[in-house]
Amino acid sequence: MKDILDTIVIGGGQAGLASGFHLQKKGLRFLILEASNQIGGSWPSYYDSLKLFSPASVSSLPGMKFPGSQNHYPKRDEVIRYLQEYKKKFQLPVLINQRVDLIENNKIGFIVRTDTGEIFQARTIINATGSFNNPYIPKIQGGEVFQGKTLHSSEYRNTKAFHNQRVIVVGGGNSAVQIAIELSEVSKTTLSVRQPIKFVKQRLLGLDIHYWLKIIGFDTFPFWRFGKTAPRTNAVNDTGRYKDRISKGNPEQRLMFTSFYEDGVIWPDGEREPVDTIIYATGFRPHLPYMKLLGALDGEGMPLQKAGISIIPGLYYVGLEGQRSFASATLRGVGEDAEYVVKDLLHHLKSRNF
Ligand code: FAD
Repeated sequence: MKDILDTIVIGGGQAGLASGFHLQKKGLRFLILEASNQIGGSWPSYYDSLKLFSPASVSSLPGMKFPGSQNHYPKRDEVIRYLQEYKKKFQLPVLINQRVDLIENNKIGFIVRTDTGEIFQARTIINATGSFNNPYIPKIQGGEVFQGKTLHSSEYRNTKAFHNQRVIVVGGGNSAVQIAIELSEVSKTTLSVRQPIKFVKQRLLGLDIHYWLKIIGFDTFPFWRFGKTAPRTNAVNDTGRYKDRISKGNPEQRLMFTSFYEDGVIWPDGEREPVDTIIYATGFRPHLPYMKLLGALDGEGMPLQKAGISIIPGLYYVGLEGQRSFASATLRGVGEDAEYVVKDLLHHLKSRNF
C-alpha cells in the first residue's frame, strides 16, 4: 500500500487534466490514473474527419491557449496533440495503463484498486472517466431479427467500409449529421430523426456562435443552482452547408423508423426498405461499475451528485454532461467545472483537518 494522497483523479482525458491543473495550483498531492496507454482521453477513438464545433479561441483548457489561428476549427489530431502538450507543460502526474476496477471507502477516504493489482489510497476522488466507454443504443422493435450490420458512431472511423451501401444514421446531433454528410458522398444515406434537425448558425456578425453564447451567459447558465442538470441540446452547428445538403436530400432526412424486419426497416408510413447498415449516433451514458460499493449511484447506475459533488463526502466528478452548464462536457467548459470542484474538495480536506 502506498502513501495516502490528497486526491486520485480517475481518467486522463481533458476532464482529468483540467482537474490536475487546479489540484496542482492548490499544492495538493495527487495522481491521475489512466486506463489506456496514452494521453488524449477518448479523442484518438473519434472518427477521422472530426473537427471541433468550436474554434480554437474558445476551446482551451485552463492555463494553455489552444495553438494556431484562434479562428480555426481544430481537427481531432490537433486536440490529441494539445492534450499531450498540456500534460507535458504542467508535468501532470499521469500513470497510464492503470484501469481502476474498484473503489472502496474507509475512515481515511478511499482505497482504489486497478487492473494491474496496484492499490492506491486517497482522501478524495475525482472521477473524470467520460462516458465514451458506454455507447447508448435505443431499443427498437424487431432489432433482434435484423440481419444487416449495426454499429454505434463510437465504432465509426471513415467511409471506407460503406461504399455503395444503403446506410441509415440514427440521431440528429452534430456527430449524426457530420457522419451522414460524409457517408452520403459514397452511399445512399438517410438521417433517421425523432424530430427535424435544428440548425444553429455557426457564425453571427463574423464571430463564432460560442462567442455570443458566452456573452449572453447561455453557455454557462448555472442550472445546478436550481437543482438541475443542463438539458441535452441537439442543435447542430452549421455554416449553412449541412442545411443545404439535407434540404437537397443528400443525405435524406426522415422521421424515425418504427421497427426492423429481417432485411431492413419499416418507416412510419408502413414502407419496408432493405438496409445494409444502421449507425447509431445516439450518444453515451456514464458507466461506473467500479463505484458499486460506495452507494454513490442511483438505481440506473447514474451518479448521485450536484454540480460534480457526490452525495458521498470526498467524491467528485468532472466532465459529466450538463453537470453545471451546457458546456460542462466540452473543452471550453470543463476547466471552470474542475476549478469549482477542486475548491469544494479543498474545503472538504480542511474541514477534516487533513
Ligand atoms: P474522455 O475523453 O472520454 O476521457 C476519459 C478518460 O478516462 C479516457 O482516457 C479513458 O481511457 C479513461 N478511463 C475510463 N475509464 C477508466 C477507468 N476505469 N480507470 C482509469 N481510466 C479510465 N467537445 C468539444 O468541446 N468540441 C467538440 O467539437 C466535440 N466533439 C465531439 C465529438 C464526438 C464524436 C464526441 C463523442 C464528443 C465530442 N465532444 C466535443 C465532447 C467532449 O469534449 C469529448 O467527449 C471529450 O473526449 C470528453 O473528455 P473527458 O475527459 O470528459 O472524457
